[in-house]
Amino acid sequence: MSGGSWDYSVFWNEAMKHIETEVSEQEFSMWFNRMGYSHAAESTIFVSVPSSFYRDQVKQRYLNLIEQTLHDLSGSQLTLEFEVKKVGGEVAAESGNGSGAKRPTGRSAAGSEGGVKVAEQKRVRRPHPTLREEYTFENFVVGHNNSFAANAAMAIAKNPGTGYNPCLIYGGVGLGKTHLVQSIGNSVYQEFDNLKIVYVTMESFTNDFIQSIREKKTQAFKTKYRYADVLLIDDIHFLQKKPETQEELFHTFNALYDSNKQMVFTCDRPVSEIRDLTDRLRSRFERGLNVDLQPPSFETRFAILKKKIERATIAIPEEVIELICNNVTTNVRDLEAALTKLIAYADLVDKDISLDVARNQLKDVFASPKQNNITMDVIQRTVADYFNMSSQELKGKKRTKVIAFPRQVAMFIAREMTEYSTTEVGLEFGGRDHTTVMHACQRIESRMRTDPTLEPTVQFLIRQIKEQGTKS
Ligand code: ADP
Ligand code: MG
Repeated sequence: MSGGSWDYSVFWNEAMKHIETEVSEQEFSMWFNRMGYSHAAESTIFVSVPSSFYRDQVKQRYLNLIEQTLHDLSGSQLTLEFEVKKVGGEVAAESGNGSGAKRPTGRSAAGSEGGVKVAEQKRVRRPHPTLREEYTFENFVVGHNNSFAANAAMAIAKNPGTGYNPCLIYGGVGLGKTHLVQSIGNSVYQEFDNLKIVYVTMESFTNDFIQSIREKKTQAFKTKYRYADVLLIDDIHFLQKKPETQEELFHTFNALYDSNKQMVFTCDRPVSEIRDLTDRLRSRFERGLNVDLQPPSFETRFAILKKKIERATIAIPEEVIELICNNVTTNVRDLEAALTKLIAYADLVDKDISLDVARNQLKDVFASPKQNNITMDVIQRTVADYFNMSSQELKGKKRTKVIAFPRQVAMFIAREMTEYSTTEVGLEFGGRDHTTVMHACQRIESRMRTDPTLEPTVQFLIRQIKEQGTKS
């Protein structure tokens, strides 16, 4: 019997359908759309994937799920073999191939929202004077980290002033607060001709207020803010230590609240952590819906960059996008900045963006310590998990070989990934001396030279820790 007599494609297709219902839409389009049934032999299915990175990720995350699903469907034990098909492989059909070649960037890539075209058919008003045009829901990528906030924002935009009022969106720098709150503004502006939308930063509200007192134009100030139908105030943490502005905002709030006008605020921390905020204003903010934005997962970061590239109509190899996503993990603004820097460079020197070019150009960005919020705890937990022990054991007194080796690995990684000195690392590991830490690092380094499996293991752990760091 020659090739072709083994065909499990029916089970494969069926399995994909099942899995689609089990993982998030984003995960599915990220990892499964670009995987393809290739052929089969005996009890093995050969699956094509666009890159080795991709293969390793899929194996690590989904191999069990896929094999289990196939088993459930076929009743027999089918195993998977992955084939990396670089250029123009049949895998490419769905959503872009993994090759580094320049290609037109269509709308098909990774995107899970299909709303792009709809907006174009509708009548579009000229841009709102104080809102940035590109801050729209269409341009906002929704992931696990922000879906609650994004859905709340969209619900508010549909029915301003009725449900979630006020709404407070909080989260760290560069996670999309301004983008979301302005998306509400832009959407309401397009949908409701007769509603007055006021967007300000807390800082300009404050300046406005001070100026209105100085110029004796408090009535104009009141008119501007108290007759808004939708008031959007960005960065209310700026209220700290400004009692008069707090007082004024309190009255503005009450006026709008009593007439069912929509208010949305953003803040870089939960309201409870704003210092020197009067109780009555605090309770006003807490009265409504409070939603937070978390750092994005790898998939979301990837989708954000994809989206940005789509709009910029330039070609960047997927491996470069992966590189950026793996190295810039905690802040979308920095993620975009890395991409912009690359594009600018490619433009100036008229060069394609290869992996090497990217590594070289983004060295400093990647090295910046603020990129990671890696804690010792995350390192210890990840390493302990991997070696099937507890972090308590890792930090404990025992010095048996089984524990000593993982401990050395963890110390080595701690020195690689954090700014901790050997003394500080020692303290985090059950109060050990800094020479112990030095010794551990030397041991691991020399072992990596002789044991070819150790380096990939360490790299794997580092990647896992980075991923954890983005979740925490
Ligand atoms: P913040 O106000 O929280 O500091 P911004 O709203 O200014 O953050 O976001 C920083 C940048 O990241 C902006 O350019 C924004 O468009 C982009 N951004 C943030 N989150 C997303 C997302 N989920 N999808 C697309 N772009 C995003
Ligand atoms: Mg902002």
